Amino acid sequence: MSSIQQNIEHITSQIHSAEQKCGRARDSVQLLAVSKTKPNQAILEAAHAGQRMFGENYVQEGVDKVQFFNHNHPDLTIEWHFIGPIQSNKTRHVAEHFAWVHTIDRAKTAQRLNDQRPEHMPALQVLLQVNTSGEASKSGLDTDQIFELAELISRLPNLKLRGLMSIPANVTDYNSQLAAFKQLAELKDQLSEKHPDLDTLSMGMSGDMEAAIEAGSTIVRIGTAIFGARDYANKN
Ligand SMILES: *Cc1c(COP(=O)(O)O)cnc(C)c1O
Repeated sequence: MSSIQQNIEHITSQIHSAEQKCGRARDSVQLLAVSKTKPNQAILEAAHAGQRMFGENYVQEGVDKVQFFNHNHPDLTIEWHFIGPIQSNKTRHVAEHFAWVHTIDRAKTAQRLNDQRPEHMPALQVLLQVNTSGEASKSGLDTDQIFELAELISRLPNLKLRGLMSIPANVTDYNSQLAAFKQLAELKDQLSEKHPDLDTLSMGMSGDMEAAIEAGSTIVRIGTAIFGARDYANKN
């Protein structure tokens, strides 16, 4: 068995024990394998271990991978998630190649993705990226902007709002991690009063997955713990 396959089995069992520990149903948390900077071969190994959801951060790299797998491995039915920042001149590529986008933080981006979503594809599943840390340097919406943008998206036929996503400040203390994730979960509960279909909280990465699961995460985004450390030498 390859180490990627072993890592996926290991993470999956960690997810299952975290679910069990806080009384959540088995498989209520999905694993998104974050494959940015990693080659197609690594994705293929993960797919052979049964992994089907992959997350990409860079538009061109992501599109190349989607096209490679659609062309060479259509039988794998991979579900591609875009989880990086979106510049408005790149929205068309995202609209044409991905099933999900986790990083909506502007009305303009939402509108363009809606307008550019091809007719033959199902609605693009979207999450609003929230800045729970309050750090001005971080991307994501402030809490008061969330309701307005959710309202706009609910009127766009080619987008389906599924929930919220955040990348909290990088802290190692469990209780601080938990507090930040609970804040996102509470926001989703408030938003659900007006948008009852919301079912997704994308939160938790390799270093803070357990706290995210305790706070109600439904998608954890795991890169390093599956594929190993990233080499950014060819990214700037
Ligand atoms: C890179 C990335 C991840 C994965 O992070 P790891 O620490 O490698 O697990 C998760 N979410 C987002 C938005 C990322 O950009």
